[in-house]
Amino acid sequence: MKPIRGILFDMDGVVVEQRLDFPAIKREIFGDTEGFILERMERLALTERARAEAILERHEALAAVQAASMDGFLPFHAWMVGRGLKSGLVTRNSRKSVEAILGRLDIRFDAVVSREDAPPKPAPDPVLLACRRMGVDPAEAVFVGDFELDLLAGRRAGVMAVLLRSPGFRSSERADLVVDSLAELRDWLEAEARSAD
Ligand SMILES: [Mg+2]
Repeated sequence: MKPIRGILFDMDGVVVEQRLDFPAIKREIFGDTEGFILERMERLALTERARAEAILERHEALAAVQAASMDGFLPFHAWMVGRGLKSGLVTRNSRKSVEAILGRLDIRFDAVVSREDAPPKPAPDPVLLACRRMGVDPAEAVFVGDFELDLLAGRRAGVMAVLLRSPGFRSSERADLVVDSLAELRDWLEAEARSAD
């Protein structure tokens, strides 16, 4: 395995905790709670789509002002900086909400990819774009997510896919590594770096 030079993160549930009520958003846009929002929005006619985007953005703006950093993220990020590792964010959220959240919590990434930049996860595109922006080869990158879409995107992009377990999502066949905390991932990476020396 190549030494790891960069770590990418999913935003919701990994970097920050925010209350986006997806069933409520779907009910407001589509009248039901089926499927995934972005994929369903793709299929709407233009005027309907503009309405849907406005609804989604209103929910995201509300959630952004209440978002808090996830337990353990800030120490992990500080460790990365100390180690000279690049950091990136890959999210299905809008750039506007990402900027609001990162600005308020004062979190900085070397690369940020939001839904305006590339087709959304589970496509590999946003992961590959974030790697390019970090200047890191996918084979030298890790992607940490808390949901199947993240692991699928990571696998397709050829990065190491890490599942950060949450109460609602415990395991995935697509995960290269499963951890209960970022501290556990830090220990794993430290051990890996030592064995490569
Ligand atoms: Mg997530």
